[in-house]
Amino acid sequence: MATTFKAVNGKPTVAIHKFSSCDGCQLAFLNLGEPLLQLAELVELVHFPEAGPVAEEAQVDIAFVEGSISTQAEYARIRRVRENSRYLITIGACATSGGLQALRNHRDSADWLAGVYARPEYLDSLATATPIAEHVRVDLELWGCPINGQQVIAAVRSLLFGVTPVVNHDALCLDCKRNGNVCVMVTKGEPCMGPVTGTGCGALCPQMGRACYACYGPAENPNTASFSQRLQGLGLMPQQISDRFMFINNNAPGFTQAAKDVVGGGDD
Ligand code: SF4
Ligand code: SF4
Repeated sequence: MATTFKAVNGKPTVAIHKFSSCDGCQLAFLNLGEPLLQLAELVELVHFPEAGPVAEEAQVDIAFVEGSISTQAEYARIRRVRENSRYLITIGACATSGGLQALRNHRDSADWLAGVYARPEYLDSLATATPIAEHVRVDLELWGCPINGQQVIAAVRSLLFGVTPVVNHDALCLDCKRNGNVCVMVTKGEPCMGPVTGTGCGALCPQMGRACYACYGPAENPNTASFSQRLQGLGLMPQQISDRFMFINNNAPGFTQAAKDVVGGGDD
């Protein structure tokens, strides 16, 4: 891959596009600090409105996409981004699973809009919020709400060396074991989502003595049935357990189904 980059100033080009989202994942880029300066030495950031450069239609080697497809205009725009990008990486819960706004997918969105806005007819809002991969081919997904900036650096470095980036989807508990964290579920009886959540954050919350709320989405092959039973053993009611799955990554298939199963909703 490295030999065919569309280099500008001798460097591969990168764009960061925003769709429906809170900008938190772009902020994770900005919060990188010194590694962001190192990144800027390795690549040419041609489109990054949050930081300055704007070139929405530029053809680039690597496009990062934040946000879900939630408006009519975004349907067409994501296709143009795909056509203009050699390698497309989605970043964050909104882009990878639809994000918090995908809660509308499970209800009557028109009812919700009418309940919140005085004049919902002025809104250009789809009935669903969907991940980018439902609309165009995605080469790599980086989960998290927000992403961990170090994952971005690792992915870019791999691509620059001509290596396909690999994302680890182990359960978060493994990070706790590696880091020597005290388990908040075992010691404090907190309903930590770590056993069914994918790694990537380095077990940030348990490290601070708090339960994980699954912002990195489902781990690979999560045993959600056993986990739900464990949470019932901690005293949670089925609806409370369902609500924990129906949070930031409510639209991730493993979590959506687990939320239905625990309250007896069955298969789709
Ligand atoms: S604190 Fe949470 S993530 Fe860490 S080992 Fe315990 S259950 Fe797993
Ligand atoms: S521990 Fe859980 S909630 Fe906290 S940052 Fe990591 S995945 Fe997100």
